[in-house]
Amino acid sequence: MNRILAGIIFFLFISTGYISYLVHERQQELQKLTHYTASWSAAQLVSEYYRFESMLGLYTIDENMSMDEARLRLDIMLSQSDLMKEGDLKGYIDSSKAHQELASQLEQALDYLDTHLEKMNRPEIQAYLKTMHSLDARLGSLSSGALDRDINSVSDANLKIKTLYYIYSATSVLLIIMSAILGLLIFYQNRNIRLAHLQVKSLADALQESKEQLQIQNARLEYDVYHDSLTEMNNRHFFWGNLTETIEVAAKIDSSVTVMLFDLDRFKEVNDTYGHDVGDMLLRQISQRLIAIGLTSATLYRLGGDEFAFLSSGLTETGAVSRAQKICDAINQPYTIYNTVINITTCVGIVISDTERRSDYLYKFADLALYEAKNEGAGKIKVFRQWMLDKLQESRTLEHDMAQALVNKEFVVYYQPIVDSFSREIYSYEALIRWIHPLKGVLSPDTFIPVAEKTGMINEMGKSVLEMACREAACWAVPTKISVNVSPVQLSSKAFTGIVMSILKDTGLAAERLELEVTESSLFTESSTPVNTLNRLRALGVKISIDDFGTGYSSLSRLSRIAFDKIKIDKSFVHSISAQGDALNIIRLITGMAKSLNMKAVAEGVETQEQLESLQALGCDFAQGYLFGKPQPFIDAKIRNG
Ligand code: C2E
Ligand code: MG
Ligand code: MG
Repeated sequence: MNRILAGIIFFLFISTGYISYLVHERQQELQKLTHYTASWSAAQLVSEYYRFESMLGLYTIDENMSMDEARLRLDIMLSQSDLMKEGDLKGYIDSSKAHQELASQLEQALDYLDTHLEKMNRPEIQAYLKTMHSLDARLGSLSSGALDRDINSVSDANLKIKTLYYIYSATSVLLIIMSAILGLLIFYQNRNIRLAHLQVKSLADALQESKEQLQIQNARLEYDVYHDSLTEMNNRHFFWGNLTETIEVAAKIDSSVTVMLFDLDRFKEVNDTYGHDVGDMLLRQISQRLIAIGLTSATLYRLGGDEFAFLSSGLTETGAVSRAQKICDAINQPYTIYNTVINITTCVGIVISDTERRSDYLYKFADLALYEAKNEGAGKIKVFRQWMLDKLQESRTLEHDMAQALVNKEFVVYYQPIVDSFSREIYSYEALIRWIHPLKGVLSPDTFIPVAEKTGMINEMGKSVLEMACREAACWAVPTKISVNVSPVQLSSKAFTGIVMSILKDTGLAAERLELEVTESSLFTESSTPVNTLNRLRALGVKISIDDFGTGYSSLSRLSRIAFDKIKIDKSFVHSISAQGDALNIIRLITGMAKSLNMKAVAEGVETQEQLESLQALGCDFAQGYLFGKPQPFIDAKIRNG
């Protein structure tokens, strides 16, 4: 568009210049018309010459006429003859040799007369007139020739003026058209500029709007950085910022800092049993309750999952514990979610310190206290003490020693018989690991298995137990079965099936003689690996028992995903047979369930004849316990040698 406009303006500029040139040209042509022309000069000269000749002729015949009159005519003629030396007539004369010759003869004649006229008598003048008459005809043709030429040049000029007029008119019309186009374009351009202006305005408005939205989003983002989206409580990030701040303020006024960490008991099981929706709603209700009991939102935090925190300064230990108890009481009240009543408790770890000013240390101490509370059981509150730190140190030392023990082959297998409840015949042996510690003697698995599971060492440890047990059982004369415990950590490894298969192959033990004991917690995982592993092993012929049944939080739907061969009733129920009527009912329920699911029931921890008789009365198939034999590093000679 701009190029077109520039082109048109350039054209207008050139056209205006050209029109000026045309006007100038026309002026020139008009000037030619108004000039004295050659024909006029020639006619003047020739008519004066004729008049002079007449005057001389009269003088020769009229005696009374004075010479002065002839002289006057000659002078006029002389002055007229100057026309031949200048202007258009000169140009005309110069254009032909004949004209130049005529002009020079005329000049000679006039010069002669100018010199001799007064000395000449009438007959001499008459004689000279003859010479003069010889020029008449040629002078006449000079005059008519000049006239012809002038007529031609006038008509040429007229033609040129006409042409110039046409060009001028066409250029003017073009100029008008171009001006009109220019006008239109300028109008169009103005409209575009107006439109562009409107667009810029609407863009600016949109920009302003998105700026405002961005500000809102930024505010939301800033809020999200410090708040938990599920419960709207302050989050972990906020916690660490406030912890540092609380410590700084407390340090200035020499006050104590209290950090409390809460961890819900069995929240994972709630999630697994009722679904994550219910779990989320439970967390929301917990946060509402905490706010409802008057705790300011600035002191409460959700650190993630089912972990909460409370921060304060200036509290005494009694004050902190009673505050924790208040929080626990609020959390422990039953919840109704989707018409289901859910009970949940929480453990609390507390640290109150007026000397420790490092935030990560305070957090670690509260966490250690929480760990101890969890160890003690659901709903417990523990205040941090130095021994907790010492214990942690011990556990670290234990980890180190265990790694060493694995290399030194300090782990061995003890065997405990599982017998038929009625015939008391040995049905199988359970392999139970022991650590023959060089300083502490024989250590039971409860002291090191949790650490081995935490560090992952259980994989190597479990593999070596399985290998030792299978190798041992493979050389027995009586094909009694061998039971081996498997940790949830081992089961969640995809390599486990392969490990079992290769051990069976290496030791030559038939798959049907191997029984693996797994706990209910092995199945409480999002991953499908444990279930798949167990199903694959079962397909090979390996038997699967569910250990410590009744202590977990199993749902029937989850249990039905694997066809177990045996259910091992936890020893805590067997021990309570005589003391609690409930225990007997639970055992009855479990044995009944085992029967209907086509499984065998095994009672653990049978120590007395009385317990055995009760179990027999309930139809429990197998029994294991000190009544039949304690775990020993060797097995019955009858089984070994046949
Ligand atoms: P568990 O599999 O339930 O094993 C039975 C536990 O009860 C054994 O404890 C055994 O000594 C004990 N016990 C047997 N009869 C009686 C009785 O009449 N009275 C009492 N009070 N206790 C009895 P132990 O050997 O200390 O093993 C504890 C747990 O450690 C086992 O419980 C098992 O879960 C785990 N464990 C043992 N060996 C291994 C292993 O090689 N791998 C894995 N992953 N876990 C193992
Ligand atoms: Mg077991
Ligand atoms: Mg058990």
